[in-house]
Amino acid sequence: MRSEKVGRSELAAGPGGGAGAGFVLEVRDLRAGYGDLAAVRGVSFGLVPGEVLAFLGANGAGKTTTLMATVGVLPRMSGTVWWQGRATRAPLHRLARSGLAFVPGAPSVISGLSARDNLKLGPGGVDGAVDRFPELKPLLDRPAGLLSGGEQQILSMGRALAGSPRVLLVDELSLGLAPLVVERLLAAIRAAADESGLAVLLIEQQARRALTVADRWCLLHMGAITHSGLAGEREALEEAYRANLGGGPAEGPAEGPGWGDGDGAGSAGLARNGAS
Ligand code: ATP
Repeated sequence: MRSEKVGRSELAAGPGGGAGAGFVLEVRDLRAGYGDLAAVRGVSFGLVPGEVLAFLGANGAGKTTTLMATVGVLPRMSGTVWWQGRATRAPLHRLARSGLAFVPGAPSVISGLSARDNLKLGPGGVDGAVDRFPELKPLLDRPAGLLSGGEQQILSMGRALAGSPRVLLVDELSLGLAPLVVERLLAAIRAAADESGLAVLLIEQQARRALTVADRWCLLHMGAITHSGLAGEREALEEAYRANLGGGPAEGPAEGPGWGDGDGAGSAGLARNGAS
């Protein structure tokens, strides 16, 4: 697919129904929000096995709302979700039982239980998680609540990947984590996509970081996907960020909002101030 400005349904190309183009998860014309406010309007995308799709956009663009409405945590105003070829309104716990894993931005561990017991509650048990993340082994008997933020997020990701899900949805992985931990988690995601055909939706504000592992990207702005492209199409992404801010196309390799890696005040600061 060429980098392009996209219309409402162009990312879900199934003929006359769901599961277009071999999508394991497909969302079409999603509209969702809070009260009467539609924070997401007409979002469509599909996930193919073995592919990592980065969902990019500034604060408030609608990334988390899209994810929450996709998995039924937030009611959908309209639109359809196809899961493994069938339109579904199943709640998250049922989707989870059939191979959908969800890792929220904040670590989702049970603080009072040991790391081992947290893993036992997951679909893949302890061994599958430790195989993927050997650094969890010395932490297994510690209460999860006493682990560092990074260790807790590794535990969350270990629990999710241990179940060998078909689809992984990840919300803002890099939030508040040290760069080395983020790199470790992203590498594990890429490996699972390559080795077991995991399809991934990676929600991320920091585009540069996401594109180290993504195959494709979509850029959200004010509740809609405005542009999409392949991971290598970085100039197009920079231009897309600038277009959404009304600044016109990029005139060189300058950093665009959301394009930075979060280590400096520059682009990350712009992204935080919000384009929408
Ligand atoms: P961020 O990267 O900051 O998490 P986002 O792209 O995930 O941003 P959303 O969290 O989906 O954006 O928010 C989309 C819009 O919905 C924003 O205008 C936001 O203010 C609004 N919004 C989000 N959560 C709520 C809520 N619980 N009640 C009302 N409005 C909300």
